[in-house]
Amino acid sequence: MAERIIPIVDRRASTLAAGVPAQPIPASGLLGDQLGRPLRDLRISVTDRCNFRCSYCMPKEVFDKDYPYLPHADLLSFEEITRLARQFVAHGVRKIRLTGGEPLLRKNIEVLIEQLAALRTVDGEPLDITLTTNGSLLARKAQALKAAGLQRVTVSLDGLDDAVFRQMNDVDFPVAEVLKGIDAARAAGLGPIKVNMVVKRGTNEHEILPMARHFQGTGTVLRFIEYMDVGATNGWRMDEVLPSAEVVQRIHAQLPLVQLDPSAPGETAERWGYKDGSGEIGVISSVTQAFCGDCNRARLSTEGQLYLCLFASQGHDLKALLRAGASDADIASAIGHIWQGRKDQYSQLRASLPADSGSGARRVEMSYIGG
Ligand code: SAM
Ligand code: SF4
Ligand code: SF4
Repeated sequence: MAERIIPIVDRRASTLAAGVPAQPIPASGLLGDQLGRPLRDLRISVTDRCNFRCSYCMPKEVFDKDYPYLPHADLLSFEEITRLARQFVAHGVRKIRLTGGEPLLRKNIEVLIEQLAALRTVDGEPLDITLTTNGSLLARKAQALKAAGLQRVTVSLDGLDDAVFRQMNDVDFPVAEVLKGIDAARAAGLGPIKVNMVVKRGTNEHEILPMARHFQGTGTVLRFIEYMDVGATNGWRMDEVLPSAEVVQRIHAQLPLVQLDPSAPGETAERWGYKDGSGEIGVISSVTQAFCGDCNRARLSTEGQLYLCLFASQGHDLKALLRAGASDADIASAIGHIWQGRKDQYSQLRASLPADSGSGARRVEMSYIGG
């Protein structure tokens, strides 16, 4: 096996000041970036900590007991998150996804959900609020999350075989607990539930069919995600990526599929339905098929940095602006200005970039800005 070289890096210090433009940019809901893409989807990371050590995200060798996680004072408070979210929503955001690290590790997360659920889109509609979790604490928390106003959850699950799952989470966590969490979420009405499986060639590819069979006919939508070159610590190699086209072929050979229309513009998953009408699966081909053309997603890190792309190397420091006493109008202008300057399309350009180049510098970790 080739040796993995894991650089010890802390990219969090690398930020850009978020300036307030001289010409105010009022929040009209009509914001467009340099490629004409609107701002619709905001992913908020509420913690940089996690109780799992998935090797593709937080490898143990780097995220050990000495890893410098953010001190609590550096995290955005719930009030700060909600205040920023309100300005994003005024600029056109309709969907908020809470993520991390493991978002259910953030104390009293229900309080944040309640605050966000009170926001309204520019058309006066409630927001679509979802949360991505590893499912380990879901059985305990599903009811409270629903009561606070969460609509749906996405649960990450990389296999059904207990030994494979324990190996992938690398903390010996049993798969049965996550399956209980999924059942509890379904019972609490947090559906339709999505389950995300990151497929690594040679590690869990044999779990593709058992996973498809397990969730077929349950109303839960299983989505297969190509293993991505996010961050700088997972030792990513192209030969460990199993292209989505191959995932579809393997399932289709046993359980015939037909392609379905995308559910919404900017939707990352390609949808496939079982021919016998027993539900659908999705594939997210972040590596083999770029979908930057209509990417309408912004990411807010745990400490209030705005990232314009999953593969960005620098964030824009909204927390500094917030804590310097900026008005809501100033914050809206700053967000508008940053989005208007956005040109990111990493996946589309990946093919022409040297390996591990990102946008010229080391990329931010997925556990810091969320998926
Ligand atoms: N801890 C939560 C979880 O695992 O669902 C939320 C945060 S996690 C960073 C969000 C998603 O990113 C998960 O579905 C995870 O599988 C995915 N992810 C992390 N690293 C990845 C990688 N290198 N390639 C593809 N997906 C990845
Ligand atoms: Fe934790 Fe999610 Fe990353 Fe796994 S993918 S280490 S569960 S943050
Ligand atoms: Fe969006 Fe960046 Fe992903 Fe392209 S690479 S789809 S711009 S997050």
